[in-house]
Amino acid sequence: MKVGFGWDIHRLVPGRPLLLAGVRIPHDRGEDGWSDGDVLCHALIDALLGAASLGDIGAHFPPGDPRYKDIDSRRLLRMAMEDLGRAGARVVNADCTVVLEAPRIRPYVGAIRAALAEDLGIPLDAVSVKGKTKEGLDAVGEGRAVEASAVVLVEDAE
Ligand code: MG
Repeated sequence: MKVGFGWDIHRLVPGRPLLLAGVRIPHDRGEDGWSDGDVLCHALIDALLGAASLGDIGAHFPPGDPRYKDIDSRRLLRMAMEDLGRAGARVVNADCTVVLEAPRIRPYVGAIRAALAEDLGIPLDAVSVKGKTKEGLDAVGEGRAVEASAVVLVEDAE
């Protein structure tokens, strides 16, 4: 078994949707980014790639590459899962934290977990998503950014 860790942060700007694992969170701003900016997908992708020592999201899906402009990050997540499968590994479980000052994500956690369970190919009870705030501190606490971290456990697919 191997563990992987991923982390990401995106600016929050007007005129963009706020997406967490593809679930749209009603808000007056959303993640800036070359892709759709889905910070939770990006943290998970880095965790998956890290568990298999496959590099990082920037190397796999470089910002500036027209193939990834405004792309649905769940597609990137599924591509990372294909890379993991080719490396002979599958996911056991995932534990994620989203740091967002507002709105509270609790009403959306069920939908977010379901989306991730589908993309990771694991049961719902193997996917944990927790919401935190920054208590008003720093850019995240001031509502100017959203942050996510993820830990995954992977095992040989035999
Ligand atoms: Mg990102």
